[in-house]
Amino acid sequence: MDADRFTFRVGNGWLRDVASEPTPNDPWPCIRWDERLLADQIRFLDVQAELGIEYNLAWGYFVDRSWPVPLEKVIDAERAEMLEAFVTAAHERGVKVLSGTGIYSWGFDEVIAKVPEVAKGHARAMCPFSETAWDWQRRVLDFLMDPKWGLDGISMQSADQGRCECEKCRQFSPVQHHANIIVRCAEYVRAGRPDWTIGQASWGLRIDEPSEFEHVQRISEAVDYMIEVRERSAETDPPRRPEMVGGLKCAFGSVSGIFLEPPQHWERLRWFVPCGLGAAGALNRLWEDGGRACELHYRPFANPVEEVSWRTAAGILSSPRTPLTVALREAVEAVYGVTDAAAEELADWFARGENAYFSRAQFKVGHGSFSLEPLVWRENPAVPGPPVYLRDRMSAEARREYARELDGLKMELAAMEIPNQDAVDKTVKAMEGTLRDIAELG
Ligand SMILES: [Zn+2]
Repeated sequence: MDADRFTFRVGNGWLRDVASEPTPNDPWPCIRWDERLLADQIRFLDVQAELGIEYNLAWGYFVDRSWPVPLEKVIDAERAEMLEAFVTAAHERGVKVLSGTGIYSWGFDEVIAKVPEVAKGHARAMCPFSETAWDWQRRVLDFLMDPKWGLDGISMQSADQGRCECEKCRQFSPVQHHANIIVRCAEYVRAGRPDWTIGQASWGLRIDEPSEFEHVQRISEAVDYMIEVRERSAETDPPRRPEMVGGLKCAFGSVSGIFLEPPQHWERLRWFVPCGLGAAGALNRLWEDGGRACELHYRPFANPVEEVSWRTAAGILSSPRTPLTVALREAVEAVYGVTDAAAEELADWFARGENAYFSRAQFKVGHGSFSLEPLVWRENPAVPGPPVYLRDRMSAEARREYARELDGLKMELAAMEIPNQDAVDKTVKAMEGTLRDIAELG
């Protein structure tokens, strides 16, 4: 069965990336967990199960940026209940639960501040040559491996906040350095939980260079799947990716070519950016190159356009040879309740909606994440950020043309006969959100 679909089909993101309610006044990443979020998560799990997306990977079950020092009372009873309810709901649907896990970085800010010997001058990354750092890393892994949480594995990240640059660490190339700590942690977890799935994603790390390949291979011997975030190995001429995949011991994958970082601070109907075909096409090419893993980023389904994009990409993970337009049509059928000719018409409308933006915007599929507002807005991290996807990726002239095309698409949508009128109303609101942002930018 698995020979015909991606082996590691993973829905992933920060805890609130599926939330129907934004948190406009919290610095990113906000991990508040309430009943409403749990309901959003369960709705997401339903769609995952329907489409055969076997894993759910979240960052932020326990902490945002910092494990507490000492490592006690990490979560209260209420949060533990939320986690239990979520894990139970996932397992009832046949979905396995993975925890995003920082390796020597992400989650150690407080440890570094209070136990200075773990780091050598870096504010967010511990030094692998410190035994105390390894103690802390191990404590975190032990904490996660505790069977009481019911987790089924982890996906590791070590590189997106940089790395220790002390004299000893500098002897190693970046890939060598990260391979050392990833392999060490993966082997430790494998010994403690042989039943677990272990993934790894190379945010902040370039892994396509032939001179570094032996270290990438070492990682592949220790993990079940590895994710190349920016698809550089597919961009060389000829593409190096098929050869890389052939030389690895684990499944190789991507983040689906394009995904929108759900904007934490924005109302859920502020944007209309369909991108399911772009993602589905990237996954199709990944499959042809031998890739068998994907961390497919969460979307807030309160915006029906986001649900269409997610479903389109997920459809390819479960059935990689599905024509892209068929995957899109199946997605609009599910979200809008259309069938037959009406489904064809709406799928075509979505394809033109996607092209309306991406034919004018500076973004190349395969280049990682796509921000609507800045992920972390430096000027004030606790207020909604500006619409950078319109401001920075398009000229004023292109925005005006884009707005004219959106106006036309909006009228076409209103004229279609679509059973799920609520989804149509929300789609119109989302388009008006984008049009309003364009008008304000001028
Ligand atoms: Zn160091």
